[in-house]
Amino acid sequence: TKAVVPIESLDSLSVKSFPLCMRQLHDQLRLAHHLKHGGRLQYGLFMKGIGVTLEDSLRFWREEFTKIMDLDKFEKQYAYNVRYNYGKEGSKKNYSPFSCLRIINETVGPGDCHGCPYRHCDVSNLKNKLQGYGLDPQAVNDIVDVTKKGHYQVACSKYFDAVHSIDLGLGINHPNQFFEESQKLIK
Ligand code: SF4
Repeated sequence: TKAVVPIESLDSLSVKSFPLCMRQLHDQLRLAHHLKHGGRLQYGLFMKGIGVTLEDSLRFWREEFTKIMDLDKFEKQYAYNVRYNYGKEGSKKNYSPFSCLRIINETVGPGDCHGCPYRHCDVSNLKNKLQGYGLDPQAVNDIVDVTKKGHYQVACSKYFDAVHSIDLGLGINHPNQFFEESQKLIK
């Protein structure tokens, strides 16, 4: 059985073990205390996949969203979707976290933070973001180069190597796979 991940560890995990698509959603949520629907879905399912319980998930979203809205609004407009992601509402399906292919093919509009940053971010923003995270300058250049060529998952693999100071060249096809591989290295 999989380990339960407490929400108190998400800040540090987002730095050490999240792929960039999830790290930027986590950052944005902490910054704005809100995410649009596409972001809540993408991050919410990923979070379920890494082992955050439904109860913790509800607490996590509630704590952030109630910084900018009252509890009643959160319960009425947002809690349903959190439970829905866990198969507790509506058709009660056990929804799977999205794969890279699915995320790369998302439609992303202005103000949206979901999608794959290698595919959907402006390259100069991407570069600033990676530099801001303190990645090695050569690694940042390599990531940007392959991104420009449209090799988004290769860029993701290079990001993995840069964050872990390793040279693995993993084939990344799922954000949760990125997370699991990272946790294997760290533990
Ligand atoms: Fe996320 Fe996949 Fe894009 Fe990496 S390649 S940032 S895991 S969607």
